[in-house]
Amino acid sequence: MGLSLSQPFNLPIKERVQYAWRYGQLVLGVGQGHYNHFITTARHLANPLDTWSEKIIKNQTKKYIMPMQKNRRGQYYPLQKWARRVGFHPSPLGIAIHPKFGLWVSIRGVVFHKTGKKRPLLHHKSPCKTCIAKPCMAVCPVGAVGDSNFDYPACRSYIQQSNQSTCVQGGCLARRACPVGKKYQYRPNKFRFHWRAMNGV
Ligand code: SF4
Ligand code: SF4
Repeated sequence: MGLSLSQPFNLPIKERVQYAWRYGQLVLGVGQGHYNHFITTARHLANPLDTWSEKIIKNQTKKYIMPMQKNRRGQYYPLQKWARRVGFHPSPLGIAIHPKFGLWVSIRGVVFHKTGKKRPLLHHKSPCKTCIAKPCMAVCPVGAVGDSNFDYPACRSYIQQSNQSTCVQGGCLARRACPVGKKYQYRPNKFRFHWRAMNGV
């Protein structure tokens, strides 16, 4: 179906008490594969990608959360922190980068277990640390990709005004310039799906 599981990660004591689980695994949508399956079966649904992902996860387990779900205290779960435990790092594009899948992976949910083996934390170096050329920064037409932060307003305003730009038609130039995980790169149809969802069209 195109969804896969990350390596399990341990929840520290404080989180175990808070959430009543001991181990977690991220549910990952890697590359183009899950899109092809999802688009043929669920494109007619409301919030199609989330609805489709949840249906698949729910079929496997009752102990899961979805990415934008809040806990009993009304707070979001610390997804970014958990992602760091299985090898993700921040990138200059404002999205997480994975050492193997690069920028071509999304977190579709998290599943939990009460039992399991204690796992060491993954200590992959961020691929951005050793990327000297940083092509993602060079190719963005509005300079939205910077060393210290990603300029969301500049990117958003550019793509909203440039319907026919390469960024909209073929997908973010900066993202496509990244050398990590190239073989998992999304095709233009998936990029356009996300662009339409983001802009409500
Ligand atoms: S091009 Fe280099 S700096 Fe940019 S996201 Fe990819 S690895 Fe990181
Ligand atoms: S979509 Fe285009 S404007 Fe936005 S960050 Fe990517 S390259 Fe830059």
